[in-house]
Amino acid sequence: MSISFDLTGRVALVTGANTGIGQAIAVALAEAGADVALAGRSAPAETLARLAATGRRSADIRADLASTEPVARVVAEAEAALGPVDILVNNAGIIRRNDLADFTEEDWDAVVDTNLKVLFFLSQAVARGMAARGAGKIINIASLLSFQGGIRVPSYAAAKSGVAGVTRAMANELAARGVQVNAIAPGYIATNNTAALQADATRNRQILERIPTGRWGRPEDIAGAAVFLASSAADYVTGQVLAVDGGWLAR
Ligand code: NAP
Repeated sequence: MSISFDLTGRVALVTGANTGIGQAIAVALAEAGADVALAGRSAPAETLARLAATGRRSADIRADLASTEPVARVVAEAEAALGPVDILVNNAGIIRRNDLADFTEEDWDAVVDTNLKVLFFLSQAVARGMAARGAGKIINIASLLSFQGGIRVPSYAAAKSGVAGVTRAMANELAARGVQVNAIAPGYIATNNTAALQADATRNRQILERIPTGRWGRPEDIAGAAVFLASSAADYVTGQVLAVDGGWLAR
């Protein structure tokens, strides 16, 4: 048996890839050989330029993934542009911070809809084709708050804990159809998502003190795990939440 991380000939669909972790994953999948469709609400100019530099094909699909409304169109446009989707990366996500007493229903719904509801229904839409073809990889971006409660982010903790659960639920059902479903739980990664924490001197110090590796993660730190889970090297890996966290959870 030969172990391969090569993604040549595969088509990937990555959500929220104009910045941060999604951008790093999209570029890494292309460097590993995949053609990559980007689905998001903002123009992904920098990511498209980096994809072009890899020589792979790409597609830019503009969609607000705060609701399930564009899900069918996103999948149809990705497949029309590049062919059937072999790899789905559910990365798009938001966070809202507030004390429990002041947390609003809007902040609850926005985070749970974007981070959990759309993730499931986009997976459902892509999994139909994957199951029919007998192969596919779904990679969900979870969080340390799939394991922990966090501070002042109740809807994010709920949604990301839900991501871990629905990853296992989908994996159970799709395993016999040749589709693997896994999640990556990034640690503290320096992106827009964590800008408020990086800017807060106290929280920044507390976070760094707890990370055994002693630094914030970079988006590129997540990319290798995504390529692994997207590749045939991970054909017997399913239903897992893989922490890439500089050792945070081990502490
Ligand atoms: P980011 O740079 O803010 O990336 C988030 C991405 O999601 C952006 O492309 C954003 O687009 C997109 N997005 C948000 N709402 C959307 C919507 N309604 N429709 C379409 N796209 C939408 O932050 P990031 O840290 O890379 O976050 C990526 C994922 O990693 C998220 O699921 C996040 O929860 C997760 N995560 C991050 C960390 C961390 O420490 N940074 C840790 C654990 C998990 P816009 O640019 O248009 O907003």
